[in-house]
Amino acid sequence: MSEAVADTVAGAVAERFTELYGAEPHGVWAAPGRVNLIGEHTDYNDGFVMPFALPHKAVAAVSRREDGVLRLHSADVEGGVTELRLDALSPESDKNWTAYPAGVVWALREAGHAVTGADVHLSSTVPSGAGLSSSAALEVVVALALNDLFSLGLRGWQLARLCQRAENVYVGAPVGIMDQTASACCEAGHALFLDTRDLSQRQIPFDLAAEGMRLLVVDTQVKHSHSEGEYGKRRAGCEKGAALLGVDALRDIPYADLDAALARLGDEEEVRRLVRHIVTENERVERVVSLLESGDTRAIGPILIEGHASLRDDFRISCPELDLVVDTALTSGALGARMTGGGFGGSAIVLAEETDVDAITKAVTEAFSAAGFTAPRVFEAVPSEGARRVR
Ligand code: ADP
Ligand code: MG
Repeated sequence: MSEAVADTVAGAVAERFTELYGAEPHGVWAAPGRVNLIGEHTDYNDGFVMPFALPHKAVAAVSRREDGVLRLHSADVEGGVTELRLDALSPESDKNWTAYPAGVVWALREAGHAVTGADVHLSSTVPSGAGLSSSAALEVVVALALNDLFSLGLRGWQLARLCQRAENVYVGAPVGIMDQTASACCEAGHALFLDTRDLSQRQIPFDLAAEGMRLLVVDTQVKHSHSEGEYGKRRAGCEKGAALLGVDALRDIPYADLDAALARLGDEEEVRRLVRHIVTENERVERVVSLLESGDTRAIGPILIEGHASLRDDFRISCPELDLVVDTALTSGALGARMTGGGFGGSAIVLAEETDVDAITKAVTEAFSAAGFTAPRVFEAVPSEGARRVR
């Protein structure tokens, strides 16, 4: 998003805030959705991930209050202002979208931060439920606003931890730390190499346009209904693998020891597949980091393809729509492609030469039509900046 466009959006959100609440907001903040370049399902195994921020973001106009009241409104959801009392916030009591921002307030207060209330109006361009982390964008934009308005002095990674706690405990979704950290900490023109064990991070140059390449996101617009149960099963299977191998997390199995570890798993075929994905995926992240740092961006294509095969065959979380995007993109000249996010629907990413983008987009759209699938949404993902105050 250009500065001028960002300013127009911030202005519109502030204006709507004033209509709703009868006074101008104290400020306006923005926090992006994200795409994960590589490192899938590694975050709950203490492993490596490598997301970058999308230009799509949640924008929130916020004012502080002193009276223990939280008022919430979203431009993207039908209905009026929701009014909540801070002392009545309780985990897993709210099944609506308001659980995300309310959960952030709850998590801040639970951690001892003196947040005394707020008025919030927000609007988001992050597609919801497409695996692009619209939920983290919502959490992080509210957390950053409250951090500034109440002078809490928290750093990006600390806000991310609190947002994760909001989503785990208050919303009740067992998500890892990647999405919130990406939204809070990414920088334009970079991917974020994040070690989810100690949250150490490094900004890795990832400026595709400068090298004549593009990264496409293909939102399949499908969400298979069994995805939540399957996510839980994968998590439990990874924990079982770590326990059987006597380590705290699968992150502790070095790539060089993979064969020996697999042999020790005996007839636990399913656990063996999960372990193989996690250990090889961590190694793929490390390879991508070193290629990008040495300026060899095109060479990451085959690693993305390997990552997809591992998610499809070992972790078994792909679906016909995601496989069709990847297969079609590759036969149409893409440098690399993989599913991204939790799986069973959501989005795939495609790395391509700028000159091949139109042909790939056309081929994928036609393949979906021929297969009788809902038309996918294809857009370019420019590595963008993380959360910040915009007014
Ligand atoms: P993802 O994070 O992959 O987009 P989630 O299921 O984690 O998917 O989060 C989607 C939920 O976040 C929506 O169901 C809704 O409750 C909330 N949400 C996302 N965007 C908005 C928005 N603009 N306004 C209100 N709620 C939103
Ligand atoms: Mg989410």
